[in-house]
Amino acid sequence: MKCNIEYIGKSRQGINKYYCTSHKAFAYDKLGNKLDECLCVNKEIYNNKLNIKSSLINNISIRYENILENVIPKIIINGNEYNGILEYDNCILTYKDFGGIMLAKLNNIPLEIVKCSHCQHYHSDNGKFAYTPHKTHLCLYCGHLFRVKEKNVGSELAMIYDIPKIKLEDKLLKLNDCCCVEYNMLMGILLVNNQSINKILFENKKYDIAEFLNHILENEF
Ligand SMILES: [Zn+2]
Ligand SMILES: [Zn+2]
Ligand SMILES: [Zn+2]
Repeated sequence: MKCNIEYIGKSRQGINKYYCTSHKAFAYDKLGNKLDECLCVNKEIYNNKLNIKSSLINNISIRYENILENVIPKIIINGNEYNGILEYDNCILTYKDFGGIMLAKLNNIPLEIVKCSHCQHYHSDNGKFAYTPHKTHLCLYCGHLFRVKEKNVGSELAMIYDIPKIKLEDKLLKLNDCCCVEYNMLMGILLVNNQSINKILFENKKYDIAEFLNHILENEF
């Protein structure tokens, strides 16, 4: 899929901003020059599309093979790896949206229906925005900021699926250099190195699992 780059106005510092609506990414440099291609690092996922409304899906998981080294998870649908995006009406969802759900659920954040006032697309929050309710949202469909009355966290996936709370066992896991994180979204199961745990001991420091993953995934929005 080719970039579709649009001018979306000036930043607070007065530089021109451009946004690619094909790949949900900005497309300008530090000086406000339009780029030929947007800054999305994995455009190839947009070539594979799965409509989740018309597909029979009873199991969706994401798996970070070693989250200490790579923060891009594999999506696993009905037991099969899927490398692409998911569609639903005019929603386009990527692995980032699943990571966002995992963070919101781990932090017990209610997921709400949030709509962009510029383009009317629904909004999903990922990375640090998934566990930090906010009033000013960045729409990933049009690149504009929009405001809501009360601080909240949006999710398009939660509009479609009933996503349970994550159940964790009260257990400490000592981590060495591998940390495989697997999240089964529809069952509310989170496993770290194949175990259900709620605390991690890493480099002689003890972390709550939510705190640990919040920090690792904070920039994945
Ligand atoms: Zn693009
Ligand atoms: Zn928008
Ligand atoms: Zn937001």
